[in-house]
Amino acid sequence: MATLILHPGKEKSLLRRHPWIFSGAVDRLEGRARPGDTVDVVSAVGRPLARAAWSPASQIRARIWSFDAEETIDHAFFKRRVAAAVARRQALPELAGQQGLRLIHAESDGLPGVIADRYGDTVVLQLTTAGADKRRAAIADSLIKATGCARIYERSDVEVRSLEGLEPVTGWLHGEADAEDLVIEENGVCMEVDIVGGHKTGFYLDQRDNRRRVAELASGRRVLNCFCYTAGFSLQALAGGAREVVSLDSSGPALATAQRNLALNPQLDARRAIWLEADVFGELRNLRAAGERYELIILDPPKFANTAAHAERAARAYKDINLLGLQLLAPGGLLMTYSCSGGIGAELFQKIVAGAALDAGRTARIVQHLHCAADHPVDLAFPEGEYLKGLLLQVD
Ligand code: SAH
Repeated sequence: MATLILHPGKEKSLLRRHPWIFSGAVDRLEGRARPGDTVDVVSAVGRPLARAAWSPASQIRARIWSFDAEETIDHAFFKRRVAAAVARRQALPELAGQQGLRLIHAESDGLPGVIADRYGDTVVLQLTTAGADKRRAAIADSLIKATGCARIYERSDVEVRSLEGLEPVTGWLHGEADAEDLVIEENGVCMEVDIVGGHKTGFYLDQRDNRRRVAELASGRRVLNCFCYTAGFSLQALAGGAREVVSLDSSGPALATAQRNLALNPQLDARRAIWLEADVFGELRNLRAAGERYELIILDPPKFANTAAHAERAARAYKDINLLGLQLLAPGGLLMTYSCSGGIGAELFQKIVAGAALDAGRTARIVQHLHCAADHPVDLAFPEGEYLKGLLLQVD
């Protein structure tokens, strides 16, 4: 096995159990390693620190598999880590019975580069790093053993793989299902999950608790759901007794799925649903000009900033939609607003929204901070894992 030797002092982040080794921390590699191979990590003075996956193409040159420098990174290692991740979910009552569930949340479950989501008895696996890519067989086998699921579909088609020198990989690893038929029930509402072509692994599992919150808040309200995608928030609003739900998205196919999802739920009153295919930035202005008012507005946009470098442009976009959203609220109305941009921290996001309220001339109070559901945990040693932040605001 090759040995990765760090520059003096660069062991500090590892001693705090942060799992990434950036290129600038690496002094040299002794021995030969191919992309994804496991390497021993030692400090400048030769102190053994960890075992990591080597990724020469990436700025994150290595990702830690184990902080136990003696632990063998073999099939049994992945079996233990996968089983532990699955067991953690089973131990949380709100997760135990979920049909749609994130089983492995990468670094925060001790498995950098590995995402696994379960939809019924199908698992969707997404491998984003050279190290994870190399361990595909062990990870897939461990998932079958830990879950009893017969089907595994791989959705490793995300852009970040190119930074690791990896090509996209998609297809069935085990078993095969008619993907068209994949439907999950969440909080009493059925939703189609497109594991082949949908966003992420097919569904925004991270918003599960927040969708439930919308159901609690929607009763009797006129609701506007911006960036509605396949109508997750919209259907929960209808289930919660909303008077009317206007759903807005620029994607025709997403809105078509949204309407199929509504049809999957005959218990919901379809006459209360209105669909708008439009750009949110323009349409909110039209609605404002038309004098429309809503009692609950949801803003769950796509990632505007991938990295801190795009933060400024992203900040302007967040401010714009939040300003418009606040102006469209009736007195006493609620705004549920999110950012899933890694480059925008929670504090900055709150500042942007505060600026929007000031410019909109609305007094707004935070009544709740919103986060990912518990199947997307954040390892305290890896704060980068906290990407989704939301605020529930009540205006005067
Ligand atoms: N809230 C959704 C997830 C949102 S994903 C859920 O809970 O499931 C982001 C959505 O924003 C996508 O459906 C995409 O089509 C849409 N979108 C992106 N830019 C947009 C824009 N400028 N105007 C309207 N919709 C947009």
